[in-house]
Amino acid sequence: MKDGIKPLLRSYGKQAAISGALEVSSLLGAAGLLPGARGRGAVFTLHHVRPHLPRPFEPNRHLEIAPEFLDLAIRQLKRDGYVFVALDELPALLDGPGNLPPFAAFTLDDGNRNNAEHALPVFERHQVPFTVFVCRGLSERTHGMWWETLAALLGALDRVTFDFGQGEETLELRTPTQKQSAFDAFAAYVHSTDEAEAVAAIGRLAQSHGVDPLGIVERLIMDGDELKRLVENPLASLGAHTLSHRALARLCEAEAAAEMVLSADYVATLTDRRPSTLAYPYGTPGAVSKREARLASELGFKVAVTTQPGTISPEPGMPLTHLPRLSLNGHFQKPRYVSALASGIPFRLKAR
Ligand SMILES: [Zn+2]
Repeated sequence: MKDGIKPLLRSYGKQAAISGALEVSSLLGAAGLLPGARGRGAVFTLHHVRPHLPRPFEPNRHLEIAPEFLDLAIRQLKRDGYVFVALDELPALLDGPGNLPPFAAFTLDDGNRNNAEHALPVFERHQVPFTVFVCRGLSERTHGMWWETLAALLGALDRVTFDFGQGEETLELRTPTQKQSAFDAFAAYVHSTDEAEAVAAIGRLAQSHGVDPLGIVERLIMDGDELKRLVENPLASLGAHTLSHRALARLCEAEAAAEMVLSADYVATLTDRRPSTLAYPYGTPGAVSKREARLASELGFKVAVTTQPGTISPEPGMPLTHLPRLSLNGHFQKPRYVSALASGIPFRLKAR
């Protein structure tokens, strides 16, 4: 593969464009322009919440915020007049009168242990409910997280040899740019071929270099007992996040349905209550389609969320199984950006 400065420039360029849009939106929002864009409220996505430990190669930096930023984000939303609700309250809330203050619902994907360690104290301090989306295969240690495996593997090596489908090739990994370029190539491979096979191949590659994908899961993800302890807290609830964390839209219908059901079964054994909420893995347009929204609804989920950005403005009677969320991104940890996102203005600007 070409030594790629382009992906990195692209990613820096994208970050500059996003922060620019957020700055403009925060100004417009503060000036009271574009009212109504915020809809009825917003659902926020978080992954890791932990103090940042800088590493030379951090391809998943966007999936990590500091507990202090979570605290500031909640304070900012309070100042902006938001009320905090649990995700499973949304159907009743959206059925109710439309003149209520805007709501904010917090969600955390994958079941990272730092959610209990670092996010829970912040949520408790502010009495903010939250939903953790549990991926059964991670919690039961039967599946790995290829993005974390690759961060560890590519961070440690100077070069790597892999067959992306057109014969073996060697990628140089001496600089952060080269490492990021390789990470992007692996991610594209996962998202464009049979995902289970791609993830298994990355797992074998990692093992051959002494990186254990399931060891990483063990270190990062809460097991069943930890999740049970977490939901003893009345602020915490659990939702489903599939069995294997694959893009459901690329599976056959029976497999996609089984992924949803098996993760809901698991949550039900932990909480004695079947979850009514679901988060689609990745949540991008390529990973979740109208079919999954229909399936989720048929399987009894009341609320299912994507990672496609937007505020919540449902039509009456619309199923709530393809809702947008706002990601609190590790690259943009400023309280005014939270206001800007929740204002819905960035998405209005984009649509024009
Ligand atoms: Zn996930």
